[in-house]
Amino acid sequence: MTNPDILITGATVAADLTERGADLAAAPTVDLRISGGRIVERAAAGTLVAAEGERVIDATGLVAMTGLVDLHTHLREPGFEQSETVLTGTRAAAAGGFTTVFAMANTMPVQDTAGVVEQVQSLGDAAGYATVRPIGAVTEDLAGERLSEIGAMAQSRAAVRVFSDDGKCVHDSLLMRRALEYVKTFDGVVAQHAQDPRLTEGAQMNEGALSSELGLKGWPAVAEESIIARDVLLAEHIGARLHICHLSTAGSVEVVRWAKARGVQVTAEVTPHHLILTDEKARSYDPRYKVNPPLRRDEDVRALRVAVADGVIDIIATDHAPHPAESKECEWGAAAFGMVGLESALPIALLALVNEGHTSWAELERLLSQKPAEIGRLEGHPASLEVDQVADLVLIDPGASSVFSVADLKGMSHNSPFLDMELPGRVAYTVRRGYLTLDNGELVSAPAVAAAAQEATR
Ligand SMILES: [Zn+2]
Repeated sequence: MTNPDILITGATVAADLTERGADLAAAPTVDLRISGGRIVERAAAGTLVAAEGERVIDATGLVAMTGLVDLHTHLREPGFEQSETVLTGTRAAAAGGFTTVFAMANTMPVQDTAGVVEQVQSLGDAAGYATVRPIGAVTEDLAGERLSEIGAMAQSRAAVRVFSDDGKCVHDSLLMRRALEYVKTFDGVVAQHAQDPRLTEGAQMNEGALSSELGLKGWPAVAEESIIARDVLLAEHIGARLHICHLSTAGSVEVVRWAKARGVQVTAEVTPHHLILTDEKARSYDPRYKVNPPLRRDEDVRALRVAVADGVIDIIATDHAPHPAESKECEWGAAAFGMVGLESALPIALLALVNEGHTSWAELERLLSQKPAEIGRLEGHPASLEVDQVADLVLIDPGASSVFSVADLKGMSHNSPFLDMELPGRVAYTVRRGYLTLDNGELVSAPAVAAAAQEATR
């Protein structure tokens, strides 16, 4: 049984929409035929004729882009299966239009050996909803004391290329230097969670007038900016690749801008929530808004959007951080940091960037698909929706609008800050390796996806 061919008719291709604020109705449309896991034909809309047994998707009014890639997902398995598993997390990914997720290392046991990263990758392969690329820990057990088995993870079946202690900062300068030296030997990258631990001891929200007013301990911007400044200098000194996780302040943008102008090999990400929410949300004392790094001031949000528009920020990454209800339904000080984000990333990006004229659809494809794949050295990711490319793609209805609800959350946890918000756009179809994982807004069943995935790798 081979996976059925798919004919997509009348789609608007994101890569053709290079102008900010472009009129979608005026754009050309295409038909795409998918067979054997690849795009095999592409022609002007109305040209390709459905064959016997072929699945036909009418994509009139839908925008097609290469499958989304999240460089920063917490899948929680092994060890925290009450929050998320590889299966449930990749279901959330498929629902959000993602075809690949990079899984952060702060599992239990930590992803700091070849054995654990191979286990996580295998769980992803078996589930089939998305390609799972494990991230390796920089230090053993994320303890910040000794380097982990970076070389063994790089050479393992999981071929790890991204290393991060995310959740914790690699604070020791010498360890950071050694990690950069090590990953340079195989073109890997260190993804830094920039947070000076001493400056943020007990910190609960952005430091400022509001934190004093609310009586919550402040988290100063400089705790992030000082680590980024040190690390771009280290990366320059070593000549290695450095990636900065979840930039959250205007000052961080200026440091990265300066480093890029010097030619430092640094890339930066921003989360959807830091592009739209401010520290004012803490006034509610609702722990759904408690996140690391914290929500910042309005001027930071504006600076982050401008940084995306002018290319200082390279990618959007979700920092999808599921937590069970008991970790969030408590007082602010006791609550866990983090928000789920896979299902809402695309609508928030439309709201904060495309609909505001900060980016074009083609730029959005760079931010959410092409560039994260490039930073993570993801193999087999399609460069475009041209013939011969792997059929990892997403179809989006840009005109749709709906109130985001718990029913839209397909992972195990419901700690989204966007519940009850009116959000634009709808992810309608997700295709991975030529088979559907999301079909007209509904997840394809787990057994069907697992079988299709097995078939696709034969
Ligand atoms: Zn982090």
